[in-house]
Amino acid sequence: MKPKRLESELQDVGTFSHPKQNLEQYATTPALATKVLHLAAVEFGDIEDKSVIDLGVGTGVLAIGAKLMGAGHVLGLDVDMDALSECKENLEMYEPELEVELVLMDVIELIRRYDDYDEQESDESDDDDDDDDNNNGDGKRKDYVWPKADTVVTNPPFGTRRKGADVAFLAAAMKMADTAVYSFHKTSTREYIQKVATKKLGAKSAKVVAEMKYGLKNQYGHHRKDEVEVFVDVWRIEPTCKMKRDGNNDEDEIFEQNLRDLAANIEELQLSARERKDKHRSSKNSNNTSNTSNRR
Ligand code: SAH
Repeated sequence: MKPKRLESELQDVGTFSHPKQNLEQYATTPALATKVLHLAAVEFGDIEDKSVIDLGVGTGVLAIGAKLMGAGHVLGLDVDMDALSECKENLEMYEPELEVELVLMDVIELIRRYDDYDEQESDESDDDDDDDDNNNGDGKRKDYVWPKADTVVTNPPFGTRRKGADVAFLAAAMKMADTAVYSFHKTSTREYIQKVATKKLGAKSAKVVAEMKYGLKNQYGHHRKDEVEVFVDVWRIEPTCKMKRDGNNDEDEIFEQNLRDLAANIEELQLSARERKDKHRSSKNSNNTSNTSNRR
């Protein structure tokens, strides 16, 4: 699909109707989404027929764009049920409806619990109440199996509300990607991201492939101006594949068990999401009956 066509197809994707400041909900514009997805698809061959995860899917512009550019299975993850509902509505707008799997997941909490990632940059690392016994003595499980895809795209929280959120997202993205991660970061953090990606997270390569000017509308009222310009880098990062399996039976068994754990984990999250949604619904006394927690 040509860029002009993609951009026009993305024009009607609804954005956050009630953006949540603490989750840094800023939707990518159709123009920027087109720029990144076209680059990923045409320059690097990372979209067409590839499985794609959109980390922090929000209302879905990147996931939808990936699907329109010919991606195979697309999975959208977000911690916010309202965003997933809006994303589902956006998917239903297309004819035929676009197939994107949506799962409620707290990416930051997962990386904090299940990885050896050190959240030293974060303000929130001192309340670790992890009581798992399957850890290496430091409270972190090493055997968690992450959802996997060829390509991960993410416009993460930039870490202005929750310090370290940008890097936590990047760490999770690198766990999930087999081939490439496309991640947006403030240009002012370029040196830092380069170091984190290559030194701390062990990337094979990390390059800025596009530079963008982001006009952040004053949707929260805490900026003095109506629109604040933020310079943003789009990174293409190749992770090292730490999960290569070599036919070793024990490893295969662990892998299968991890898959089962993951399924149970997702089920649990969906259940609690449904409960929250029901509560929300009855409190709003609304007659909206859409079901969005997860679908294929
Ligand atoms: N991908 C969308 C939204 C980007 S805004 C777009 O490009 O338009 C960042 C998204 O990350 C929001 O949808 C927000 O809800 C989500 N997010 C923030 N913290 C998260 C967390 N801990 N786990 C998962 N998603 C999170």
